[in-house]
Amino acid sequence: MADTINSNENTNSSQVKDLIIIGAGPSGLTAAIYAARAELKPLVIEGYKAGGQLMLTTEVENFPGFEQGVNGPDLITTMRKQAQRFNTEFLTEDVTEVDFKNSPFTIKTGSQTFQAKAVIISTGADARWLGLDSEKALMGKGVTSCATCDGAFYKGEEVVVIGGGDSAMEEATFLTKFASKVTVIHRRDTLKASKAMQKRAMDNPKINFIYDSEVLEVMDVNEKKVTGAKIKNTKTGEETIVPCTGFFLAIGHVPNTKLFSDTKIELDEHKYIKTIPGSTKTTISGVFACGDVQDTKYRQAITAAGTGCMAALEAEHYIASLNDKE
Ligand code: NDP
Repeated sequence: MADTINSNENTNSSQVKDLIIIGAGPSGLTAAIYAARAELKPLVIEGYKAGGQLMLTTEVENFPGFEQGVNGPDLITTMRKQAQRFNTEFLTEDVTEVDFKNSPFTIKTGSQTFQAKAVIISTGADARWLGLDSEKALMGKGVTSCATCDGAFYKGEEVVVIGGGDSAMEEATFLTKFASKVTVIHRRDTLKASKAMQKRAMDNPKINFIYDSEVLEVMDVNEKKVTGAKIKNTKTGEETIVPCTGFFLAIGHVPNTKLFSDTKIELDEHKYIKTIPGSTKTTISGVFACGDVQDTKYRQAITAAGTGCMAALEAEHYIASLNDKE
């Protein structure tokens, strides 16, 4: 699967970094901690949206080691400080261009050009949002894109799930463990989800479905909490309010891989980076991917951190093998 790399003759080896990590969510920061402790002096180009999806959450109760839970941005700040303690360098700029054709690899930001023996991609994925002002205003106050993370906050309450795919079915089913009632709101009259996932959700007495409906507004911005979803039937034009205290988005994720579209890194049909199963190796030898940018299944902070650790260990072995050849 690995691609062969040509040597870049024009490189001044004294300027070549061992490792550059692109992205600084839980996967990139964990990779930095491991790589820095292995004395690789990693450079993390963290981007202007540093921290990833945890920056949009409030309470994180499922990250081990925090008995009372931890605030998402605080968790990121602590991980970043931990990486800095072992001499990780950070650059708060977006990467604008990568060239993985030759080794060492070239990475450009708005202001600088770097070269590195190995690269770890941890650019994450963003949940897709409806784009409503009210949705944005109530994010973290009842509006969320992660049922696994936030479902337990809605014990005995009524919630809605937006979407008609496998994620919506899975999240709705999961939420019935806590919520008294789950309403799936879908924009069309047929679900996109697989028949098996549909059946499981439809057979669950706590789940009901509203079809042909788009969300106009998440209520109530003035009260600073979710009290309902104002929806419109796309066929009849009728507007109704579905009472709820939790508003769960499940309309897909978008991996941050645009930057790599001109490289030989193989992406799957949803544009996630393909890695060799059981590893973080991509189709280019010396380029590794970890976290949500390569994970269509788990998408948890802890699994992102786990693959970040794997990427650092694999990058370390790769760099050692290059050094042995020199
Ligand atoms: P999908 O892209 O499959 O589904 C997204 C759903 O959200 C669709 O029903 C879509 O509507 C709807 N949607 C998209 N944009 C909007 C919008 N702006 N407003 C309203 N509705 C919108 O994403 P998923 O996250 O569900 O799944 C992603 C991939 O992961 C799939 O391949 C899926 O099979 C897989 N997966 C598998 C699971 C499993 O097997 N256990 C669990 C979860 C995901 P429309 O139908 O009209 O396009």
